[in-house]
Amino acid sequence: MNRKDQRCPCLSGDIYLACCARFHSGAALPSTAEWLMRSRYSAFACGDTKYLLNSWHPFTRPKRLELDEGISWRRLDIVRTERGGLLDKEGVVEFIAHYRENGIAAQQHEVSRFLKTDHRWYYLDAGPDNSAEQSMAV
Ligand SMILES: [Zn+2]
Repeated sequence: MNRKDQRCPCLSGDIYLACCARFHSGAALPSTAEWLMRSRYSAFACGDTKYLLNSWHPFTRPKRLELDEGISWRRLDIVRTERGGLLDKEGVVEFIAHYRENGIAAQQHEVSRFLKTDHRWYYLDAGPDNSAEQSMAV
């Protein structure tokens, strides 16, 4: 199976090659916080830890990252965005990422913060109103 011809995991409607692949390969930079979020979600789905680390702000970037092989990412819902546009320096994206862990459906609900440094968006952290515990009950 060639992922490049498949629907992009971020569910933009485009095939992967025409969508997040250009960010993962470094051919393009996401112009908005939402696109960085989408491309990071796709990187989780593709297991692209290098991209996840590279798009993590140096302030908060972990030394290394290991993805849980038991998790398969199914769908990304962007709930809302605040700022994060072409002329902004910071942005917030609230999302719900749906996944299955060892066959059991679950979701991660997070309010992520993004910062732009040197014309490039980075993931900073999960904001203070992170409602992760709430999603555990779903
Ligand atoms: Zn995509």
